[in-house]
Amino acid sequence: MTAKLPQPGELDPIETASRDEIAALQLERLKWSVRYTYDNVEPYRRKCLDKGVHPDDLKSLADLGRFPFMTKSDLRDNYPFGLFAVPVKQIRRLHASSGTTGKPVVVGYTENDLNNWANLVARSIRAAGGRSGDMVHVAYGYGMFTGGLGAHYGVERLGCTVVPMSGGQTEKQVQQILDFRPDIIMVTPSYSLVIAEEFERLGIPPEEISLKVGIFGAEPWGQGMRAEIERKLGLDAVDIYGLTEVMGPGVACECIESKDGPVIWEDHFYPEIIDPETGEVLPDGEQGELVFTSLTKEGFPVIRYRTRDLTRLLAPTSRSFRRMDKIVGRSDDMLIVRGVNVFPTQIEEQILREPRLTGNYQIVLTRDGHLDNVEVRCELQRELTGKVGRGAIEEISRSVAHHIKTLIGISTRVQVMDFDTIPRTQTGKARRVIDQRPKQL
Ligand code: ADP
Repeated sequence: MTAKLPQPGELDPIETASRDEIAALQLERLKWSVRYTYDNVEPYRRKCLDKGVHPDDLKSLADLGRFPFMTKSDLRDNYPFGLFAVPVKQIRRLHASSGTTGKPVVVGYTENDLNNWANLVARSIRAAGGRSGDMVHVAYGYGMFTGGLGAHYGVERLGCTVVPMSGGQTEKQVQQILDFRPDIIMVTPSYSLVIAEEFERLGIPPEEISLKVGIFGAEPWGQGMRAEIERKLGLDAVDIYGLTEVMGPGVACECIESKDGPVIWEDHFYPEIIDPETGEVLPDGEQGELVFTSLTKEGFPVIRYRTRDLTRLLAPTSRSFRRMDKIVGRSDDMLIVRGVNVFPTQIEEQILREPRLTGNYQIVLTRDGHLDNVEVRCELQRELTGKVGRGAIEEISRSVAHHIKTLIGISTRVQVMDFDTIPRTQTGKARRVIDQRPKQL
């Protein structure tokens, strides 16, 4: 597929501005945002007072490093509305995180916030190759999760036709894609494979599927998964990133012409990478925890919010803004197996080196005495199920285990199962890890 390059006038001028212009805008907005939050969010003001910093201390972008972090526990401690900077009457919409990691957190948007969000999702879709007049099938869940409605208003803002399908009802999803012939799909990568499998089941080859671009996010997915999705759906797969606490989808999005990591919309979100142990700010290019400061948010501003997502900041390419590398995982997704730190995406990468396997997998952890056992469950492609002999299955299993051992450093038992035996996500994020180890006290 040939990537659509943006035409003159299609981009916001700031997307191609000089780094100096961007830094100047960021500093002006940062000063506003820190002062605004200090003045209007009492728990954050207390943190600043405890640390002995004041908004007047912020004279350069680097001074931000002196300010205290916000964390998910701040949101929980102030549940539901304690960190809002405006009275609830000025909030036009509430959302909550999908609760992947514990109790939900609630966020609120003013009218301006919703307007900025729609603009940034529109900018993201345009970066992904979407243009006014395209039809976009939204299969992110609608409701409290930011995915569905976040995508929805961005689609409309760009002047596209939105199909607000939401998640689930896979057969209906596919029928509708066949009937309406949308150009773009927005969905989690794991659910896109479920949709791809339904096309396969119906015997519809990728070249007959109308979709040209898929905008995938809300969970980690590696380059192997990108190749698998592109091959099965016959489209360009582009990565969109976001999180409820910072806004929702559209904090960053990849450009179709380079597909080299999501471009951070740095005119609205100031990124830092920190050492998760010490909190120290790391230089661009080094891997650590991603931290965001909102530059324009009114309802629920965040200053140095620790996302727990691990990645690196990369130099600008297709736009003037910096990019982030694909997320390795969240610090709380990290498995510690016999003392080795492992992310599910690393195991995914090794599974997808084997073309006879699908991108559906699960990692089951058990404990035998003091030793952790890891079973990696993966699946044969549909067309191979029942057709390959025991010898071939053992060979696949040995080879995946060997790659995991040599590249990641842990011993695993790889179980190659028939197609469609691992449970599929119907609505959202896949559950990759089943940890049956007794809890450490
Ligand atoms: P929850 O925290 O309950 O999962 P969210 O829906 O707000 O709620 O999830 C945001 C998180 O999803 C991010 O912090 C990140 O871990 C993950 N995420 C979102 N987009 C991507 C992406 N493109 N790649 C990897 N991870 C992503």
